[in-house]
Amino acid sequence: MTISLESVGFAYETAGRSSPMILRNIDLTIAEGEFLILLGPSGCGKSTLLRLVAGFDHASEGRLQIDGKPISGPGKDRGMVFQDLESALYEWLTVRENVEFGLQIDGVPRQERIERRDAALKMVNLLDHGDKFPDALSGGMKQRVQIARMLAMRPSIMLMDEPFASLDAQTRQILQNQMVSIWTEVGGTAIYVTHDIREALNLGQRIILMSAGPAANIKHSYDVPMDYPRKQSDPLYIDLLERISADIEEEVSKVWQ
Ligand code: ADP
Ligand code: MG
Repeated sequence: MTISLESVGFAYETAGRSSPMILRNIDLTIAEGEFLILLGPSGCGKSTLLRLVAGFDHASEGRLQIDGKPISGPGKDRGMVFQDLESALYEWLTVRENVEFGLQIDGVPRQERIERRDAALKMVNLLDHGDKFPDALSGGMKQRVQIARMLAMRPSIMLMDEPFASLDAQTRQILQNQMVSIWTEVGGTAIYVTHDIREALNLGQRIILMSAGPAANIKHSYDVPMDYPRKQSDPLYIDLLERISADIEEEVSKVWQ
């Protein structure tokens, strides 16, 4: 599915009052099957932009469309993984039940439910942990449950908001590789938010660098024409890393002026 954003602007409304513009004039087209990264300094509006695509919030200006149809709210075509380790899973349900929950709500027949649940758990290597409750899981495992829950719903579009940000570097690296394998296997369009340049380069086919807010915009778009798994020693990797780092530094320094 193709996602298009046209002159999108956004301000939060709280108790009838508007925040300053968080996003302004965002133009972006995301192709079917693309793995797109939203990268930018903390607080620039990455989560906000992802929430607009998810349909949790509505644009104050401009248009968001999926395959030419306006995004008017959340839909089954989109699945989301959140950064928050604490609130995202149902603590009173086992891993299996967490993954099956959405399928149950959708009225998917039992046999199919079990098959889809187990296929999703297998993809994230959690088939042997189905009986556990979330509080018995490591942070990395919790995030894998969230990913399995999304995969079980078979969305055409996967929206991921810094899913590995709170994990240690080694776990993060392993899960990044797993993420690439999953996406290669299931296909579909992915939008992945991160503030980590290396993570962006390990995962993305295209990296959208956002400017620092308020009224954040797209500062630069970088294509990453490299095979997976990405090698950090690749001259292209090093070159992109340097260019993007310099760009981000410029943005962050604006905030501190
Ligand atoms: P990022 O994900 O890039 O760190 P966010 O999208 O979370 O940034 O936030 C962008 C800006 O919007 C920040 O300045 C933040 O303080 C503000 N913001 C986020 N959520 C709300 C809200 N519910 N009400 C008002 N302002 C908000
Ligand atoms: Mg965020």
